[in-house]
Amino acid sequence: MNFEVHEKRAELLDPFAAMAPRSIPVEVRRDPLTGRSARICHFRPLAFDLPDAAALAEQTRAECPFCPERVLTHTPCFPPAFAAEGRMRRGEQWLFPNLAPYDALGAVATMGPEHHFPPGAVPAGRIADGLALAGEFYERALRRGHPEAVYFLLSWNFLPASGSSLIHPHLQVFCSSTAPNRLREELAASEAWWRRTGGVYWEELVAEEAGRGSRFLGRIGGVAWLAAFAPAGVAGDVLGVVEGRTTMLDLDEAARRDIAAGLAAAIAGYAEMGIGSFNVCFFPGRGGEKHFRLHLVFSPRIYYNPRLATPDATALRWLYEESICVGYPEEIAGRLRPRFAAAA
Ligand SMILES: [Zn+2]
Repeated sequence: MNFEVHEKRAELLDPFAAMAPRSIPVEVRRDPLTGRSARICHFRPLAFDLPDAAALAEQTRAECPFCPERVLTHTPCFPPAFAAEGRMRRGEQWLFPNLAPYDALGAVATMGPEHHFPPGAVPAGRIADGLALAGEFYERALRRGHPEAVYFLLSWNFLPASGSSLIHPHLQVFCSSTAPNRLREELAASEAWWRRTGGVYWEELVAEEAGRGSRFLGRIGGVAWLAAFAPAGVAGDVLGVVEGRTTMLDLDEAARRDIAAGLAAAIAGYAEMGIGSFNVCFFPGRGGEKHFRLHLVFSPRIYYNPRLATPDATALRWLYEESICVGYPEEIAGRLRPRFAAAA
């Protein structure tokens, strides 16, 4: 497996050191599967300003549609043909149609009655129950023979820097016959890898990273965790590969618990670096792909300038689709590893 790195240096005269020559490192890396490039540059300490989520929570609680006082009056219901009970529930977590759907069958799942969690402390049980509720929704879509019940997708935006418009923790749970771009790319590249080498890229990646060690975070049950070699996130990405599974419907309770434990570890680890906001996406096959494994990516999000709420998605990221990571993924892995060791 080729982990391609191009090391470069930018030379300049430093105005803060009497115009003395200064040499600044830049790395261009290529993802071993897709060939997508990522830049490791703009180096800075891995210490950020944790957003004041408690203050945001106080400002938004009174009108929150997902809090227990309003969730049954301010959220939509499914048509009876899909769910006679209107909304699906698991304990205190609710799942209902998304008022802003991405496709013909989309839902939102609340992660409990809590309007917000303290920094770094999203309970793994809430995540596991959210995944279970999503699984019930996918199974129902499949049983109903819904035409979009092809790719079972799940995404999570947490706190505003991630793009989330609500503070109350919630998941986007949807079905689509159209795989999103990155999933489509990965499916095609994994199939090409299989045809070329006869191997499953995702299994080879886990074996290779476990052997190298520098980016490997550990195994929690049947999920292998690592820091992405060429991340999309500005402070790296955490990749979880669910061994032996292809779709969201393959997840049993143990697998959901293992995934939740790893996500909780990533959340806690990044909070220690001062990052409280993140995106998560699951990347499933449609079922039966020998060349593919279900995986998920946790990507931390920051404001470049918290005072101006400057997003970390700039023109470079948005239109060139080129990512910048401000620290070496191997160093970030070193910071996260104790949390994964504690969760294993
Ligand atoms: Zn709320």
